[in-house]
Amino acid sequence: MAEGATIEQVERVINRITQDYGLRCETIVSSTTVIGVKGVASVVDEGRILELPGVDRVIRITEKYKDASRTFHPEDTIVWIDGRVPVGGPHLTFFGGPCAIESEQQALESARIAKAAGVDVLRAFVDKSRTSPYDYRGLDIKKGLEIAAAMKAETGLPTVSELIDLRHLDLFLEYGIDVIQIGARSAQYSPLLEELSKVDKPVILKHGFGNDMNEWLCAAAYIMSGIDRERRSVSEGNRNVILCYRGIKSFETETRFAADVGMIPIVRLKSHLPLIADPSHSSGDRKLVERVTYGFVAAGVQGIEFDIHSNPAEALCDGKQAVNHEAARIIENARRIHALLAGVGIESGSSVAAAAK
Ligand code: PEP
Ligand code: MN
Repeated sequence: MAEGATIEQVERVINRITQDYGLRCETIVSSTTVIGVKGVASVVDEGRILELPGVDRVIRITEKYKDASRTFHPEDTIVWIDGRVPVGGPHLTFFGGPCAIESEQQALESARIAKAAGVDVLRAFVDKSRTSPYDYRGLDIKKGLEIAAAMKAETGLPTVSELIDLRHLDLFLEYGIDVIQIGARSAQYSPLLEELSKVDKPVILKHGFGNDMNEWLCAAAYIMSGIDRERRSVSEGNRNVILCYRGIKSFETETRFAADVGMIPIVRLKSHLPLIADPSHSSGDRKLVERVTYGFVAAGVQGIEFDIHSNPAEALCDGKQAVNHEAARIIENARRIHALLAGVGIESGSSVAAAAK
């Protein structure tokens, strides 16, 4: 809207968009008013909006991942977990725990180590999406969720768990899982993403092994937009999406996946969503996890998710990449790096240029 546009003028524009096109509006008021329209832009006749009094411009967002894009939402989004743990903005949040729940004893011991190390949210993974069907894929779901609830009760920390099967969603909610994770292997499975748009829980979204940023942010938009198959806006969507970078496949075999720290500032520039990274599943080796964590934090992530196991040598799943008590040092140093670089904006080049003026 033009500067000084009246409330009546704003309402008239909103009425036209909602009544004529059946689209949903979202209003941002700062120094000027911006009316965001969600849905399929091609149905809107720009001229019919422009002719209304008080309208300054009509801008079409060309990115395919509009809801996840910074273009329309310049401020960082902060996602609150269980109403008490912030992720995003200036915060650095740690998610940690065993790759998989194997037994009550292993899960509780790992949870205690994670808590003592300073983890904010516990990994309580009950259903594992594994490459080979002969690998460990988790306990019976209900048994696993009972142990996840015990990890939460014992430590007082919220929990995150990967959802693979839509049929388990209600059970996850019933057993008090606080954050739902979508793993690399289901990162583009739209029925799962669409279902999460109706859920009032934060979602950590990874990207597939071979996905580029556009595909990853489009997957986020599936959860956020609340747009149905007819491409109509049918719900508010779920705004509480946390992106988790985990590296992609490359020809290099020395690390498990190729993680590019250069992606961190790019994704931060393109999206307002909180961005965390997983140094365990990207590097695949505990010898690398500590340094890779520091690299991710220096590059600008707002959180880290890593594997912490009470006895990595006996782990049934991903023991090679799990750390133990050294988690405490990793978190402490990462927090120092984060504090040291707190004054560097995400566009560091422009802040250097601004300082030089
Ligand atoms: C995991 O976090 O346990 C996991 C399997 O990671 P990814 O989905 O990134 O492979
Ligand atoms: Mn794992």
